[in-house]
Amino acid sequence: MPDKTYYITTPIYYANAPLHIGHAYSTVAADVAKRWQALRGREVFMLTGMDEHGEKIYRSSAASGVKPQDWVDRYADEAKKLWAFMNVSCDGFVRTTDSAHKETVREVFRRLRAKGDIYDSEYEGPYCVSCETFFSAQQVKDAGECCPDCGKKITEIKKESALFFRLSSYGGKLLDFYRANPDFLEPPGMANKTIDSVTRGLNDLCVTRERVSWGIPVPGDASKTIYVWFDALLNYLSAAGFPHDMGLFHKLWPADCHIVGKEIYYFHSVIWPAMLMALELPLPEKVYGHGWWTLKDDKISKSTGNIVTPYEVCEKFHPDILRFFFLREMPFGTDGAFSMERIGERYTADLANPLGNLFKRTEVMLEKYFGGKIPESGSFDEAILQKQKETLESFSRHMDALRFHGALNALWELIDAANRFIEEQKPWVLYKEKSPKLNDVLLTLSGCLEFVTGLLSPFMPVKCAEMAAHIDWKIQMPEAGSARKGRPIPGGAILFPAVEK
Ligand SMILES: [Zn+2]
Repeated sequence: MPDKTYYITTPIYYANAPLHIGHAYSTVAADVAKRWQALRGREVFMLTGMDEHGEKIYRSSAASGVKPQDWVDRYADEAKKLWAFMNVSCDGFVRTTDSAHKETVREVFRRLRAKGDIYDSEYEGPYCVSCETFFSAQQVKDAGECCPDCGKKITEIKKESALFFRLSSYGGKLLDFYRANPDFLEPPGMANKTIDSVTRGLNDLCVTRERVSWGIPVPGDASKTIYVWFDALLNYLSAAGFPHDMGLFHKLWPADCHIVGKEIYYFHSVIWPAMLMALELPLPEKVYGHGWWTLKDDKISKSTGNIVTPYEVCEKFHPDILRFFFLREMPFGTDGAFSMERIGERYTADLANPLGNLFKRTEVMLEKYFGGKIPESGSFDEAILQKQKETLESFSRHMDALRFHGALNALWELIDAANRFIEEQKPWVLYKEKSPKLNDVLLTLSGCLEFVTGLLSPFMPVKCAEMAAHIDWKIQMPEAGSARKGRPIPGGAILFPAVEK
């Protein structure tokens, strides 16, 4: 087990609109990955936060007659409330208006300017305020005279004095790095797009704006602010203590994984690693781009008007059910359809039936045959023991690679095997026949309850705490074949009651 703290990040969210299930998806994924590493005994640090500068925020706050700082404060408070509601346990919450963050950005800017990676020039050309992205005239022309990313109207920036980051000189180094570190970019589809675009060649990136006041002023030139993406990406360093707390920084850096949505994959897989190379800092272990949830074939986002908030979903389902659904329904990295019907189907097919029944049946049999205790004697079934060992190996391998879907598939194979074991062994017949095999069967089933509770706990921390209370167990990394002979099993209310359609 490495000594280094496991450091995982979400994107920082733009403080301009309520957070929806797309944001919750990224954040829950990072939380589950972090909880898994903690379960294995590692020190962990999960970072989320808010992206609070830029022209769009300035315009929105001005239109509402609110000071920009008050505007972003409100969104930061809402985000913190939402993550608590979703049982997300973040260790850091960074805001780009934090003074420590601003100092990191200024310091990085000064260093890169001193070594010539940031240089003086001029900028004129198209800019999308909604995406806060510079485009070339050709890109805008190809998109039909609108933003190639969001389709909105493009702003023409008139010639202004500007500073540029020498991105073009990092293309070759980036390609070498991608080749030498095949696990750095995931999933493969997004990796290929990144490699293609770097292979085609990179242009230097304008990293300042004139006439945009809501941002971090360029050191030594208050007429300009630093480009919002250059500012935002540095959150991963500022929150890790760079350069003001190098003790913390050496514990955390490099990050183990940046989880991002595919719409910002380019920034994280090209611009960000190039910035780190310029700073002569190690690159993160992995940049993982996930897909989008769609509603009736449209992406969920503010610009399409399709917003589903986790609160709306959780009027009907416990937040842990939404967390489970996110990672059970589709492989991480692909797109999937989101609907309340689909959550209901998953709930019934995975939780209420196989998992809920495994608990209920085992608890009822322990009560009836053993007075509510795990049998004092007996031995663990060999076939189930083998199945647990295989599950543990497969589950761990998938979780370490953020293949949540594969991990849950493996766990559900075990749950199905345990339910089949009941059907095959017929404990009610063994009881009538006074067979000593009854002890083995109930001992094995009790072990399965604790095994499943432990592995599922990163996904559903609150529901698994209820499951653990049913079996009087403290959540920990489970072991194959563990059986706590003679321990009471208190049971409790039905864990996953049936829901109406
Ligand atoms: Zn746009």
